[in-house]
Amino acid sequence: MATTIPAQAALDRAATALAAGELVAIPTETVYGLAADATSGEAVARIFEAKGRPRFNPLIAHVDGFAMAERIGRFDPLSRRLAERFWPGPLTLVLPLVPGSPVHPLVTAGLDTVAIRMPRGFASGLIARLGRPLAAPSANSSGKVSCTTAEAVEADLGQRIGLIVDGGATPVGLESTILKVEAGRPVLLRPGGVTVEEIEDFLGVRVARSSGGAIQAPGMLASHYAPAAPVRLDVEEVRDGEALLAFGAIRAAHADRAPAILNLSETGDLREAAANLFSHLQALDRANARAIAVEPVPRHGLGEAINDRLARAAAPRDKPLAEN
Ligand code: AMP
Ligand code: MG
Repeated sequence: MATTIPAQAALDRAATALAAGELVAIPTETVYGLAADATSGEAVARIFEAKGRPRFNPLIAHVDGFAMAERIGRFDPLSRRLAERFWPGPLTLVLPLVPGSPVHPLVTAGLDTVAIRMPRGFASGLIARLGRPLAAPSANSSGKVSCTTAEAVEADLGQRIGLIVDGGATPVGLESTILKVEAGRPVLLRPGGVTVEEIEDFLGVRVARSSGGAIQAPGMLASHYAPAAPVRLDVEEVRDGEALLAFGAIRAAHADRAPAILNLSETGDLREAAANLFSHLQALDRANARAIAVEPVPRHGLGEAINDRLARAAAPRDKPLAEN
């Protein structure tokens, strides 16, 4: 069982747990969020672990104000107007990632864009107290419905997390609307708590929806996260000119040939490996090797999402993903 404390008394304890890299389930105006320090890869890896998510889809970075938001994402004029009108509130904006942003690559799934939202109420005070953005997808195990009460969070995740902040039933009860401005035009990526009509009335322009009604979310292409270099998986032997993405204490044969080697986790810790995955792939890609050879990574726990991501990196480029 997790410890549940009322929101009025939870600020210090929740901030301390988050600063220590732990997960805290928190009320937001949309649904309960499973929060982690968005600047810590290992803390964010715990989110995927606790939810049992089979994939690293990008998460929303929650901020307490414009100063924090601007350190993370670059606002175009339209996005800024939308934020000024609808923040704090259930509107998430996808923006170009600011170089050197404090948000860990596991939050953006290695993308060069970032989803940002300013929540209301307890979550906002908590972010201000922590002084760092929070990654917080819905507090439910993968495949289950979102939770709108602390009791529902306890029933679903109580065995897997330490702390639940009880702020009563969440007022909106729906996820946030996700919007991205592309070439000066607003595009709806996910419907949610702020309606398209409200946005259109405010802007005086139509909001485009992704063609065919399908949500244009990242990760829909098999090769979405592909590095420029070809990727070869489950290698037992490194070939000439290949950089090596290693895992654990034992090296593949001929590892000494590799012009660059990075280890996801020397000790074979899947949480550490998840935290290093995107930055190591990016770094090896910059080594301009002929290919990136990847040692086998176990498939249990977080290994499932790590292997999903690696399979995408190795997949034929730009083929639609077979949904699973
Ligand atoms: P949630 O589980 O409610 O936090 O969902 C996060 C949603 O934001 C997912 O549907 C993601 O696909 C979407 N999202 C996060 N980051 C991005 C991004 N950089 N570009 C587009 N969509 C994003
Ligand atoms: Mg959810």
